[in-house]
Amino acid sequence: MIIASKNTGKLKEIKTLLDGLDIEVLSLLDYENIPDIPETGNTFEENAFIKAKAVFDITGIPTIADDSGLIVDHIGGAPGVYSARFAGEDANDRKNCDKLLDMMRSARPEERTARFKCVILLYNGLDKWLFDGICEGTIINELRGTGGFGYDPLFQPIGYNKTFAELGPEVKNGISHRGKAMVKLKEFLAEELQ
Ligand code: IMP
Repeated sequence: MIIASKNTGKLKEIKTLLDGLDIEVLSLLDYENIPDIPETGNTFEENAFIKAKAVFDITGIPTIADDSGLIVDHIGGAPGVYSARFAGEDANDRKNCDKLLDMMRSARPEERTARFKCVILLYNGLDKWLFDGICEGTIINELRGTGGFGYDPLFQPIGYNKTFAELGPEVKNGISHRGKAMVKLKEFLAEELQ
């Protein structure tokens, strides 16, 4: 199986999860000739499929691809599939967070609802299987915490008074969108391999 990613953090997370299953796990780091795949879809599902199909078509190996992002109700579901490049071509985590802070400045507490969504897709050339995870929360009005990445310093999951950036990786992975989607993937693979 090949994971359609070069992101070492993501690869580590997925490989750890698949530990103990009888699967050899490769990644794009093992295939240097695969070009960057533009995420041109309008949904997380489309983007995950675009990535999985591109990698399967080159390697012929069953492929896992994922896509994720933040959906904020007050701004019509943005940044959504544009989460990584919300602040433009030269976007980075800080610029993306600053843009979101600006757009949320006038939002009242009850208008601050948001959720992270993750879609993991497995494609074998014939069939595709989707596993999704959602984590509900609110967007706070200042950056808090130094852990995590992306919008973590602005996102406070429901039931907690700390942001993802303050909660630390163990707590975050236990409740996050990606953690939930990964548990579903693992359950599926464990069943398939029985
Ligand atoms: P991708 O799924 O790696 O393409 O993630 C897209 C973008 O969504 C990232 O660059 C982040 O801006 C945002 N994002 C996805 N997951 C998280 C998360 O767990 N915390 C913070 N930001 C995230």
